[in-house]
Amino acid sequence: MLNSIALIGGTHGNETSGIQLITNWLNTGLPERFESLNVTCALANMAAIEANQRFLDEDLNRQFTAEKLAADNPAREAQLAKKLNAKYGPKGHSATDFFIDIHNTTSNMGATLIVLEADDFNTKLARFVKHVMPEANILVEDEKSFVEHGYFCTVGKKGVMIEVGAQPQGVLREDVYQLTLTMAEAILDFCVAWNARSQELANLPPCEAFRLGHEVKFPLDENGKRKAMIHHSLQDQDFTPLLPGAPIFRGFDGTDFVWEDDNETYPHFINEAAYHKLDVAFATAERISF
Ligand SMILES: [Zn+2]
Repeated sequence: MLNSIALIGGTHGNETSGIQLITNWLNTGLPERFESLNVTCALANMAAIEANQRFLDEDLNRQFTAEKLAADNPAREAQLAKKLNAKYGPKGHSATDFFIDIHNTTSNMGATLIVLEADDFNTKLARFVKHVMPEANILVEDEKSFVEHGYFCTVGKKGVMIEVGAQPQGVLREDVYQLTLTMAEAILDFCVAWNARSQELANLPPCEAFRLGHEVKFPLDENGKRKAMIHHSLQDQDFTPLLPGAPIFRGFDGTDFVWEDDNETYPHFINEAAYHKLDVAFATAERISF
């Protein structure tokens, strides 16, 4: 039974879809069909939202490991994380049964549901969302345990992220907003069905999903400067199979770098603006049945 649900936007202050959706639902209330649910809507990082920046000092969505929550770090997001953990958690003994955190990406990932566990709840959620929203992508990040992640959504007993793009940072696109709204409603419809112990959930067939592999970095020269950019044939091709030998980068000298792995992969977070400073070009994934 999901007795308390948190629906959060503005964990990153320049990801406008969730900020706008939460603002709208705080003004109007949730759609009537969700009235049986106890949903707390809130914006996470008001200072970053006002600054229209991802964060002020440090990435809030990496602060929620046990180590970081216990550390004495003066960074504003580290301090905020402690307050948010006290309010919605505390992590590991949470007052929140299910935590939904809404994000945007500059990558062309469409509406992506990120789940962190492959248990009964998360597989049924993924199957339900994919069933009512076939255009959705399911991304499974279970390379470590739920509590080991530093994501804000892990302060809940269960937690997922909505990740929608492509949208430039600080910009509100209507099409991306609609995808965000549709996925948020699909997840809340699932919560209603879960609480009603709907037989429909047990009958949903396995769905396509993508299991996170690893990050691929941009090629750098001996001074740490980039030698290449995302190849035009890879740009915007998130979750499209990338085949061995296919170009991934175009060097500034005109030479191409190709995918040298023996296997195809499903790239995503391709050219994500927030990962620019980290020199992350994209992440790989394996296509699975979930
Ligand atoms: Zn984000």
